[in-house]
Amino acid sequence: MAQTLRPPLIAGNWKMNPATADEAETLAKDVMAGVGPAADVHVAIAPAFVHLQRIDLVLDGSPIGLAAQNMHWMPSGAYTGEISAAMLQDAGCTHVILGHSERRHGLGETDADVNRKLHAALAAKLIPIVCVGETRAEREADHTRDVVATQLEGSLAGLEADLAPGVVIAYEPVWAIGTGLNATPEQAQEVHAFIRAKLSERLGAATAARVVVLYGGSVKPDNALELLGQADVDGALVGGASLKAADFLAIIAAARTAAAHKRGAAR
Ligand code: PEP
Repeated sequence: MAQTLRPPLIAGNWKMNPATADEAETLAKDVMAGVGPAADVHVAIAPAFVHLQRIDLVLDGSPIGLAAQNMHWMPSGAYTGEISAAMLQDAGCTHVILGHSERRHGLGETDADVNRKLHAALAAKLIPIVCVGETRAEREADHTRDVVATQLEGSLAGLEADLAPGVVIAYEPVWAIGTGLNATPEQAQEVHAFIRAKLSERLGAATAARVVVLYGGSVKPDNALELLGQADVDGALVGGASLKAADFLAIIAAARTAAAHKRGAAR
């Protein structure tokens, strides 16, 4: 079967940064200026909730997607402090990050929570970016595959094959997030291939081949090309380096180069 070429996606997770809407606007404008009108690499940025509407105005007319960092699964009601999928859509979001390890491990989010959010996001036509990944202790105990398989199974329960290509998976080893210790390209490729094999078992090979799987964990301009050059690494979820426009743009440029190599290899 011909190799499926997946459009690369580089997503910037700004987390609880920057402090002001003015700084967020400046960062978004700098990224936008560097990305230009090109749509060969898909790009999304995930500012804090309170900055979403302002950044949506900034991004008007740009191909850059707007992502939220979380959402609640209920459509409305008495859920103090929560944000619904409809609210995100109304604020201009195209994507939503679900099950980030800082929420799983810091705030007790479970696979069942992520799964409810996944279905609510899809119903609202948001593209979910579902994060999975093992802790350092789990990797050292050789449990990476079990952990990732369990998270995938729980987070994607009930996902129909026709909707699966609209879901993005982000493999983010917890030990690599914000630590400066990225997975090696070989470690990333091994887990990405495993994820695709699991998706294939559940959804069929043709569908699995269309699912974009990002790597996240200390992606920087100097390691991006090697990581993104791996066959099953379709892009990156970038934390720290997405807060500097020049670094984020260099990672986008690396994705463009890696995609060109993959296209060349597929010919
Ligand atoms: C993240 O928060 O998703 C992430 C990958 O962070 P960093 O790039 O800073 O490791």
